[in-house]
Amino acid sequence: MSLQDYKKAGKIAAEALQFGKKLIKEDAFLREVTKKTEEFILNNGGKLAFPVQISLNNKAAHCYAGTSNEQKFIDGDLVKFDVGVHVNGYIADNALSVNIANDKDLKLIRASKDALREAISLMRPGVKLNEIGMAIEEVIVGYGFQPIRNLSGHEVERWNLHAGIIIPNYDNKNEMELEEGQVFAVEPFATTGAGKVSEGKFSGIYKVHELKSVRIGRDVLKMIYENYRTLPFAKDWLNKEFDRFKIDNSFRILEQQEVIHNYTELIEKEGTKVSQAEHTVMVANNPIVLTKIE
Ligand code: MN
Ligand code: MN
Repeated sequence: MSLQDYKKAGKIAAEALQFGKKLIKEDAFLREVTKKTEEFILNNGGKLAFPVQISLNNKAAHCYAGTSNEQKFIDGDLVKFDVGVHVNGYIADNALSVNIANDKDLKLIRASKDALREAISLMRPGVKLNEIGMAIEEVIVGYGFQPIRNLSGHEVERWNLHAGIIIPNYDNKNEMELEEGQVFAVEPFATTGAGKVSEGKFSGIYKVHELKSVRIGRDVLKMIYENYRTLPFAKDWLNKEFDRFKIDNSFRILEQQEVIHNYTELIEKEGTKVSQAEHTVMVANNPIVLTKIE
């Protein structure tokens, strides 16, 4: 395990999050924020652990503004901005929430942010997973909102964004204890809704699900696996390497054969709002926040 690479990934991820945050304003194109933040990461010595994600209002996660996206930020949008970086496969994942042009959702934003702070203070050896979930739930409910119970924090391992253990956002009764040196992305979501997301439309974010030998799409798959392994990637990223026809054809086959998986957007009910805050943390007696700006 390379603490140095984890710290480097964390620093780039934190800086990219602040860089992108400044671009998020009324009338800006979502796709411009995505593109510039992804370039920032690559120009600063990081690789993308997953596509930069911008999820608005009742959408909680897994939304990608690709090159053909025409959406702009508008007054009142509640924006979740989620950025992941890896260095030699060591992953740092962080996210924040902001309002466009007003502070309408300030309380909701504070709820997830405070819940995260509380959770981080508990990322010590011997603390039980459900104690962390309980703390997150308590803070969010204290604000008058609900945590999203079917989204959770996750362990990260080298080349593995969603490794085995999850950090619940409520008391899920799991009394497994944290161990020194484990790394987790901790990510409370707070909502004005009931606290359960469902699957929306396909996102354009993919990952390799199972390597199989295929005839059509073989070179596309080879390129994907060599560059991203099993980390999430955007279909749009391949535009530099192959023409559109070849990409579409290959993806159709690869999806059919379940070699690659297209993530769906994750959405609370219409009319509700969702906020998120996230840091990547190493378990220690003094928890190490890898994605903190020094
Ligand atoms: Mn994230
Ligand atoms: Mn995450």
